[in-house]
Amino acid sequence: MKIVTILGARPQFIKASVVSSAFKKAAINEAIIHTGQHFDSLMSDIFFQDLDLPQPQYHLNIHSLNHGAMTGRMMEKIEEIVLQELPDWISVYGDTNSTLAGALVAAKLHIPLAHIEAGLRSFNRQMPEEVNRVVTDHLSQLLFAPTPLAVQCLQKEGIHQGVHLVGDVMKDAILSYQAKAKQTSSVLAKHQLTPDKFYLATIHRPSNTDDRDRLNSILQSFTKLDFPVVFPIHPRTLAQIRNMDLSHYLNTDSIVVIPPVSYLDMLTLESASRSIITDSGGIQKEAYILGRPCFTLRNETEWKETVEVGWNQLIQPEKLSEAIANFTPPAEVPTLYGQGNAATEIAEILIGCSY
Ligand code: UDP
Repeated sequence: MKIVTILGARPQFIKASVVSSAFKKAAINEAIIHTGQHFDSLMSDIFFQDLDLPQPQYHLNIHSLNHGAMTGRMMEKIEEIVLQELPDWISVYGDTNSTLAGALVAAKLHIPLAHIEAGLRSFNRQMPEEVNRVVTDHLSQLLFAPTPLAVQCLQKEGIHQGVHLVGDVMKDAILSYQAKAKQTSSVLAKHQLTPDKFYLATIHRPSNTDDRDRLNSILQSFTKLDFPVVFPIHPRTLAQIRNMDLSHYLNTDSIVVIPPVSYLDMLTLESASRSIITDSGGIQKEAYILGRPCFTLRNETEWKETVEVGWNQLIQPEKLSEAIANFTPPAEVPTLYGQGNAATEIAEILIGCSY
């Protein structure tokens, strides 16, 4: 069996590392296309060095464009490659423009499409990711859902066929790399961090970075906390902070800005933090799986189960310090994201599926 996988962004490299290993074990022949959506060494190359992820066969180098231009140019190149490779399946991850471009090409060329991390919904169509998810799910023949809620969301949209509840590949990734992170990461020493004496923050969603007042109140909220905030900064967030003349918040005693870190360093920082403050999708789940309280600076989340069990709170920046001070860890930590064998199940289902 031959699969063409389309990747483009940081969380997709992490998810693909475990799925590509499972494909290899199952003797599935995979060709990876890297669209270039995330392109620099800290947002891309570092994941191919540290993780068990084969080098892409194709690099499209498409980035830094508006949504339409980016998706269109990706489609053009992906189509050319798929016509050469003629795979049995195309696989895509999550909800980026690379996901959407791959899904549209698959549909146009009548190649079956497998969507890993299907069925997620924030119900906020202002988020570019939400549109990408909805379209991709509706074009997919196999939909690998991480949670029962994701399955329900698909059912509500009339998608019943090809849906498989397999758990979350990010849980697989944590289980696969946690020990290596413990053995090899020196990120705490590098930044002189003591476990439990810092918060970890990541911010990159346009809803938080594209409005100066909002970004200002987020940065201000970090300065009000009882311990410093370690802030591995996404390149677009850094650019916005500079453009919006907010650089005075950076590298103060209360906000320790560091460049984006490797996945192994990120697992180490997450595990050692007092709590995590984020607008990332993946990091909300990682916080839960690693047993850290999470404060999500958004109005809604597609990972609702983490909120329902009490480990994640959707919060406005003005309420952050109060929410952190009043947080009591719930007694229960139910298993939400499967047993850590999602990638193997995905490979087995693909092998057993004739289309
Ligand atoms: N991540 C990382 N280094 C960083 C920040 C995040 O390795 O400096 C990892 C993080 O552990 C998670 C994934 O990137 O696995 C989340 O990606 P991101 O927040 O960019 O995207 P989202 O999940 O919101 O789509």
